[in-house]
Amino acid sequence: MKSRRQFIKLGAVGSVALMSQAVTAAPDDLTQSQQPTKKQKVIKPIVVSTWNHGLDANKAAWEVLSKGGTALDAVEKGVRVTESDPNNTSVGLGGLPDRDGNVTLDACIMDHNSNCGAVAFLQHIENPISVARKVMEDTPHVMLAGDGALTFALSKGFKKTNLLTESSKEAWQNWLKSSNYQPRINSENHDTIGMLAIDEAGNLAGACTTSGMAYKLHGRIGDSPIIGAGLFVDNEVGAACATGLGEAVIRVAGSAIVVELMRHGKSPQEACEEAVARIIKKHKNLENLQVGFIALSKNGEVGCHSVYAGFNVALRDQVNEKMVDAKYEKEW
Ligand code: ASP
Repeated sequence: MKSRRQFIKLGAVGSVALMSQAVTAAPDDLTQSQQPTKKQKVIKPIVVSTWNHGLDANKAAWEVLSKGGTALDAVEKGVRVTESDPNNTSVGLGGLPDRDGNVTLDACIMDHNSNCGAVAFLQHIENPISVARKVMEDTPHVMLAGDGALTFALSKGFKKTNLLTESSKEAWQNWLKSSNYQPRINSENHDTIGMLAIDEAGNLAGACTTSGMAYKLHGRIGDSPIIGAGLFVDNEVGAACATGLGEAVIRVAGSAIVVELMRHGKSPQEACEEAVARIIKKHKNLENLQVGFIALSKNGEVGCHSVYAGFNVALRDQVNEKMVDAKYEKEW
């Protein structure tokens, strides 16, 4: 599993002409070069997402963004790729189940008008992000959970799917042999995809989707479907999302805080660092407590930071298609 954390650098893919004013062309260190001056033109669009699976998700998002599509369509299309990947054990199809063998999914989406939708504790639906979008667009509500969310999804034409793949079932059955109630919170079991994008029109959107903590208590909901915790977008300022131990993210209203810190003048990088510092301050026991944040400002700056080493971020813009290792506070 270590390979999932390996640093992948694909290098720049854009044309030289596009590089001249690019404010996102920070090869390995987002903190140093992604600070556009007022005179610099932001080269849009941009998409950023969590972990290595973000590369493929970004590709799908880029198909939308590069044709002038909206950030909202891009983030939905992007994270659907990860949700539908049976080999990804932390999102959608193939996600590791709860301790009773049920794959239960959490997801949310938010647009530039502060519209948002979410589903929590949803079973049997491969693409919860699209259900979340339907909640946003077709209901007066923000969040549906459990059976109600499933009934709603079926009414909208989503099909029931068995999300427990053979390999996830086998992993769960192995876990059952000891079946200590110690839901794993290490980096191998926490790989939510969070995605943030800014489109050509300069509008922001974000999406976040996960099967949550492996072998969790049945009914447990993490930060990922909670607007303000797993994801937050404010089109005047920027957007942020979180991955890692959801309980810790919720305690500090993580993504909302990152955006609020940007509103008060912090760069996305500084804002992510401050949110991580709050998490560290609020938790006496930091053993295995991994949390990572990514942030994208209205003017195209990107930031990311995590409690422990190993968090990485996929970045795609007109110049770059690459992974970036986040800076962190602690070694494992
Ligand atoms: N944040 C997610 C949760 O706690 C898990 C993850 O990031 O993998 O449910």
